[in-house]
Amino acid sequence: MNGSRRDFLKVSALSGVGLTLLGFDLAPAYAQLRELKMARASETRSTCPYCSVSCGVIIYTIGDKAKNVTPQVIHVEGDPDHPINRGTLCPKGASLEQDIMNPRRLMKPQVRRPGSDHWEDIPWSQAYDEIARWTKKTRDASFIEKDAQGRTINRCEGIAWTGGCTDTNEFNYLVVKTMRSLGLTYIENQARV
Ligand code: SF4
Repeated sequence: MNGSRRDFLKVSALSGVGLTLLGFDLAPAYAQLRELKMARASETRSTCPYCSVSCGVIIYTIGDKAKNVTPQVIHVEGDPDHPINRGTLCPKGASLEQDIMNPRRLMKPQVRRPGSDHWEDIPWSQAYDEIARWTKKTRDASFIEKDAQGRTINRCEGIAWTGGCTDTNEFNYLVVKTMRSLGLTYIENQARV
């Protein structure tokens, strides 16, 4: 039989209508199809990291309930209960699964040394040590205790902080408290852009 894909879909749709007219209830069959896709998946609510709109997403993962199995993300969709996007995602957010599963995804801290032309992987413990050491060194070198009129300002202009759209309110609260305690004035967040 010759026929296009469009013809096949038309016949399939008409068959469904015909079966419904004959008294067959197709709802359980459609429900079963839906269930099969997500049946063993666990849902994790998160935030799209791409832009400052901060749309809510649901990430479906399988494999994390069995021993010796690496969890695998199988689907990402908009969160219908999220007040910002109400289940919708732009094309970039809709491709989030490819970002999560991408083999080139950065999973370790990296550093690019002065004068170097490449990034090197370092362990987390080393990253923490280096951040702490450089923060102290830079703050000590750039701290301004008094302004030109002799007024106390206790300001550190040698360090800046910027956050991302996936940072929570609680995280941002702690960040601002910490950075202000160091005297930072240049504090920004991508979600304000
Ligand atoms: S889904 Fe699109 S609009 Fe929403 S946060 Fe992601 S990139 Fe921005």
